[in-house]
Amino acid sequence: MRVVLLLVLAQVALLVSPPQPYLTRVVNWNGKCPVCQLEGRLSTVTVGSSHTTLAYSPPFYDEQGRLHYHDPNGHTTYYRCSRGHDFYEVRITPCPWGDYPEVK
Ligand SMILES: [Zn+2]
Ligand SMILES: [Zn+2]
Repeated sequence: MRVVLLLVLAQVALLVSPPQPYLTRVVNWNGKCPVCQLEGRLSTVTVGSSHTTLAYSPPFYDEQGRLHYHDPNGHTTYYRCSRGHDFYEVRITPCPWGDYPEVK
């Protein structure tokens, strides 16, 4: 019981103290630092290394006979903004029917 309580406290501590610098994941990025955007600031962004995954996922037809491409492969690129924020983008090819990747 006491151990569980300690674990909960540790997780709360992680939540309230933001790690700096931290890595933010962005899907289909818009070209601006996501952290600076949240803070309403302007910055320039340096492009770092990148890599692409190579998983196989076949296209499929839905109940209306529409062909879907839900390709899980992402092109990952790392960035650092001029204010020191590190983040990375996963660029995923969107399905022509607009249901993938899901917008959150
Ligand atoms: Zn930034
Ligand atoms: Zn689709």
